Amino acid sequence: MNLNYKSESAHALDASDSLTHFRKKFHIPRHNNQEVAYFCGNSLGLQPKAVKDYLFQELEDWQNHGVEGHFLAKNPWVSYHEILTEKAARIVGAKPLEVVMMNQLTANLHFMMVSFYRPQGKKYKILTEAKAFPSDQYAVESQVKFHGYNPDDAIIEIQPDAGTNYISNQKILDTINTHKDEIALVFIGGVNYYTGQVFDMQKIAACCNENNIAVGFDLAHAAGNIELKLHDWNVDFAAWCTYKYLNSGPGSVGGVFVHEKHANNFDLPRFTGWWGHDKAMRFKMDKTFIPIAGAEGWQLSNAPVLSMAAHNAALDIFDEAGIDNLIIKSKKLHQYLRFLMADVIAEKQIEILTPDSKNEHGCQLSMFAKKDGKKLFDILTNNGVIADWREPNVIRIAPVPLYNSFYDVWRLYDVLKNKS
Ligand SMILES: *Cc1c(COP(=O)(O)O)cnc(C)c1O
Repeated sequence: MNLNYKSESAHALDASDSLTHFRKKFHIPRHNNQEVAYFCGNSLGLQPKAVKDYLFQELEDWQNHGVEGHFLAKNPWVSYHEILTEKAARIVGAKPLEVVMMNQLTANLHFMMVSFYRPQGKKYKILTEAKAFPSDQYAVESQVKFHGYNPDDAIIEIQPDAGTNYISNQKILDTINTHKDEIALVFIGGVNYYTGQVFDMQKIAACCNENNIAVGFDLAHAAGNIELKLHDWNVDFAAWCTYKYLNSGPGSVGGVFVHEKHANNFDLPRFTGWWGHDKAMRFKMDKTFIPIAGAEGWQLSNAPVLSMAAHNAALDIFDEAGIDNLIIKSKKLHQYLRFLMADVIAEKQIEILTPDSKNEHGCQLSMFAKKDGKKLFDILTNNGVIADWREPNVIRIAPVPLYNSFYDVWRLYDVLKNKS
C-alpha cells in the first residue's frame, strides 16, 4: 500500500475495497448527526439490518403456531441450531460434526472442562496465560477447586516477557515441555482480549498432542476475527461468544467445538441434558441418556431461538463476504491504523501493546497511554470516535472489515493528531 497521512489516502483505500458495500448492511450509531467511527466490534458488534427480519420470522411463527412452531415454524425450532452449524463451522475451521451453538461462553467453558480437564495422579494442573479475561480465570479456578486442588498450586500462569505484555509462543511451548508431567489441560485465549496478541494455536496444540495433554482455546476474540483451523490443528475443544466480532447481539448464543476424535467417545465425563440425547429418542422421555455423536451431544437445553435467529442473520453476512476476504481486509485496516498511529504515538506518549508481526495480531490494536489516557479517550468519544477503555490506561481499537472503512480509521487519527 502506498500510504500518506491525508484523508484522500483513506478515500482511495475505500474506493479500491471490494467489501465496502457490506457497511450498508449494518446500523451505524450516530453522534451529532453523523455516523460514528465505531471501533468496539471486539466488545459488541453492530447490528446487521437483516436481524429484524430474521427475528420477525420467529415472532410471527410463535404468534401463529404457539408450541407447534417447534415443528411448523418455517425454520422448525426443534432443529433450529442445525441451521447455524455449517456456517459457524466455516468460521472456526471445523467439520459440522464438531460444532454446536448452545448456551453462552463461560457456561460452555465449564461444560468443556468437565469433559476435558481430567486430573489424574501427578497430572492435575491447568496451564493458562497470565491476565486472561477475568471470567476465564474464575472458571479455571473454580474447576481446579471443584476437583479438590489449590489454585495456587494447580494453575500455572505463563507470565509475559519481562517488562512487556507480550507472551512469546516459545515461552508457552517451553513451559508446557518443562511441566508436561504435571499438566492435565492447556487452556488459553486464542487472542488475548487486552493486548490483541494472537497465540500460535497450531504449535501449542501440537505440543499438547505430543505430550498427552488436553488443549482448549477460548475464541471470544478470535471467532470472526482471524483464521482458525481447529480441526486441522487437532484442538480438543474450543468455545466462543457471538456478540463480539460475530455481530449477533448482546448476550447472544455461544458456540462450541469438540474435535471429531471425541465424537463417539461416550466415556468422557459430561454434564448432560435432554437436548444432547439421541434425537430419535428425545421425546420418548426415557431414563437412560444416549448422547448424540459429536458436539451436539454436549447440548443441554432446547435452543434459544430468538438469539439464534440474530446469529443466523449475522452468519449469512459472513458467508456472503467470505471469511478469507474479511481477513485480508482486516490486515489492511490494521496496517493502515499502525501507519497512521506512528505519526502520533511519540507526541501523545502512546505505546502500542499489540505485536506487529502479521501472525500475531487480528484487527485489534491496543494502545497504552502513558499520560492522560482517559482524557484522550474522552476526546475521541466527544468527536464521534467510539473506542474501548480498559483500566488502567489502555485504549483498544478494533477496525472490523465488515463495517469499518479506512476513512473511519483516518478519523481516529485526525482526532488524535489535531483535536487532542
Ligand atoms: C468476552 C469474553 C468473555 C465473556 O464471557 P460471557 O460468558 O460471554 O459473558 C469470556 N472470556 C473472554 C476471553 C472474553 O473475551
